[in-house]
Amino acid sequence: MINQFPTNPFSIRNHRLFTGNEPVPFLRSPNQSGDFAPRGIIIHDTAGRLDKGNAVGWFLSSEARASAHLVVERDGSVTQQVGFERRAWHAGKSSYQGQRDVNVFAFGIEMVNLGKCSKQRDGSFQPWFKGSYWDGTDGFSFSFAASRAHGKGWWLDYSSAQIRTVTHLCAALIGKYDLSFIAGHWEISPGRKIDPNPLFPLDALRTRLLGAEREDEVSSILLADANLRRWPSYHDNVIAVLAKGTPVEIIRSGHYKPLGQSEIWHLVEAGDQQGWISGTLIEAPCSATLH
Ligand SMILES: [Zn+2]
Repeated sequence: MINQFPTNPFSIRNHRLFTGNEPVPFLRSPNQSGDFAPRGIIIHDTAGRLDKGNAVGWFLSSEARASAHLVVERDGSVTQQVGFERRAWHAGKSSYQGQRDVNVFAFGIEMVNLGKCSKQRDGSFQPWFKGSYWDGTDGFSFSFAASRAHGKGWWLDYSSAQIRTVTHLCAALIGKYDLSFIAGHWEISPGRKIDPNPLFPLDALRTRLLGAEREDEVSSILLADANLRRWPSYHDNVIAVLAKGTPVEIIRSGHYKPLGQSEIWHLVEAGDQQGWISGTLIEAPCSATLH
């Protein structure tokens, strides 16, 4: 794939993360196992104290029974805790597109953050573990947000250094392991998890690194040269002639009777053009639905 980040400081060698020629700190978590075949990345936050090393320290204890491949501190620095060829324990009960136990096929990246906070009478913000944090101090910025998945709450913004690091980490992992998805923990464990919080730009990250969502489109190939037509008929309505082998995206399909007999036609997109093509000219798509 095209390297979108020529300035990406991260690279991966032997399943270890490097910046330049230096491996990033590797503090091995005992909470890991084998049998790992990565296809994607799950983004988390720690919902814990913000002190540097606090989350990494927790994942070092077997008592935690949890880990992540990478932990990103508020200052954007990163620690690796599980080799990229091994399974980390970050997702718990989870499923992605019907496949359970997401730890088996996804990397875990943890960002240090507080989790959901409530606003106190004195104007400070309190996370689940108590303690007071103030908007505007230590670079903290709190925002109110509500979503169906997260509920209502006050949330600590991710630092720009964290977002920059996570973006580069995802780009490095996608480039190395040919991954196809990035998801938030709340998306794979709905009702049970709410991390990362609603302030994290998950959709922007996906669009930037994986392109637009293409799940609803059906890709197909022309079996012969084909007339792209303005309507599903054989009248004088040809917009363009497309060569055999041209890939097209089927937008929708239907039955029409341009010659009296029922035929299937597809509304397709080819490059920047849109028009109708007779169904006989297109490789049968496996999941096209007729309306
Ligand atoms: Zn999580």
